[in-house]
Amino acid sequence: IMKLSQLKLTTPYRELDPIFFDEVEPTPLKDPFLISVSKDAAKLLGVDEDITKDENLVGILNGTYSLEGSDTFAMCYAGHQFGHFVYRLGDGRAINLGKVNGQNLQLKGSGLTLYSRMGDGRAVLRSSIREYLMSEAMHGLGIETSRALALIGSDSDVTRQEREKGAIVLRLSPTWVRFGTFEYFNFRGEHARVQKLADYVIDESFEHLKDVEGMYVKMYEEIVRNTAITIARWQSVGFNHGVMNTDNMSIDGRTIDYGPFAFLDDYESGYICNHTDVDGRYSFKNQPGIAHWNLHKLAVALSSIVNHDRALEILDKTFGTSYEEEYLSIMYKKMGLYERDEKDIELFKWMLGSLESATIDYTKFFRTLSAYDGDKKNILDMAVFQTPLSEWLDAYDERLKKETLSNEKRHTQMLKTNPKYILKNHILQEAIEKAQQGEYSMIDELLIVAHSPFEEHLELEHLAKATPLKSKNIKLSCSS
Ligand code: AMP
Ligand code: MG
Ligand code: MG
Repeated sequence: IMKLSQLKLTTPYRELDPIFFDEVEPTPLKDPFLISVSKDAAKLLGVDEDITKDENLVGILNGTYSLEGSDTFAMCYAGHQFGHFVYRLGDGRAINLGKVNGQNLQLKGSGLTLYSRMGDGRAVLRSSIREYLMSEAMHGLGIETSRALALIGSDSDVTRQEREKGAIVLRLSPTWVRFGTFEYFNFRGEHARVQKLADYVIDESFEHLKDVEGMYVKMYEEIVRNTAITIARWQSVGFNHGVMNTDNMSIDGRTIDYGPFAFLDDYESGYICNHTDVDGRYSFKNQPGIAHWNLHKLAVALSSIVNHDRALEILDKTFGTSYEEEYLSIMYKKMGLYERDEKDIELFKWMLGSLESATIDYTKFFRTLSAYDGDKKNILDMAVFQTPLSEWLDAYDERLKKETLSNEKRHTQMLKTNPKYILKNHILQEAIEKAQQGEYSMIDELLIVAHSPFEEHLELEHLAKATPLKSKNIKLSCSS
């Protein structure tokens, strides 16, 4: 079996016109050192999983060891940022190495590119730890995402509000094309390039549509469906992405670009994780609507190859149905309802309302409900206001009588849908502060629960502790 450094890459993206990318070399960090690797992500590359044994690992991440066939580049794109069109963004601090086994390898934080604008091309340790762990945790939760193979730290200074250290994450994704990549070429009126990019996307992400009649329309429909499903899954686990700009929307619908994201602590539908998002454009409850808005912008960007009215028809029909189907099917599983009753939707909405007024941890509520046997105490003890939840539990008790599964079987099933471990901000913050002191072991602990969030990890119970009051539903700074 091959070592990581023996991989042979290809660079199909570079076969597009040079205008699609900037040919650029990574700028190495000073005194780089390995912090963590994801053996689970290494499996995607078909190499010996223990990539720590590879003496070139740090060099690969730092850009000082070049893999065979690698020819580095940054991708060009535009995007709607907080509703406003920015005609040229691009990988300002990400550099692509090439592709192997259907995965595009990308370094994040490896220096200036043509698209760095006012930025320094770097990523700080703090935000790199967050991206590294959350990529893997999203996968552990069963939600499509880019992955993270490894994380290095360094002695290079990077200035944000304070002086921090630079780090690099090696990210993997089946595609790095974004909605904004299409917007870039459509804005310039370069319709032949829009089509060329669509052909590339079909090859890369929708191969089954190749040479199929109406393939561009069908591609758009699949993007709509995939995106709706991903957002439905975010909503089900209480994930707030925070920066749903069209340049942060992957063309195949997976989650990418982890910034000031957060999981809900207490259930609060209007929660805004991103400190700079004063109007709450990207609040938790707005995510489905924003995804729809972004898909509309994509339809505009594709209008030279996909009839616009047809695209909007698809958007309105497919987005709503795919979203609702996925979301409700997960939520019923989270509630342990396997039979169907006409009043289920009402019971479900009532539940969300009572969670909101009870002030209760979203994740812990469902995990505790997964062991519920009619004794309300364990659940009510977690709530600040108990009455609304107690009333809902009475109705839930009634509804459970219609279920045919035994309590035990229902509980077993529910435990597979309701995670025990999610990467809450206060936990990530603890790992970050330790790392900033040179103590990195908590990152590997978090990686374990990130990969198997539904399992019990007796020696890691502390990673599922209740959020301290002062850390509940706080906002995060975007600077990364
Ligand atoms: P984001 O909101 O993190 O997705 O970033 C939006 C755009 O800004 C992307 O084009 C990034 O590549 C770019 N960018 C963000 N941070 C930096 C940085 N430190 N240096 C250069 N470009 C950056
Ligand atoms: Mg080169
Ligand atoms: Mg981005």
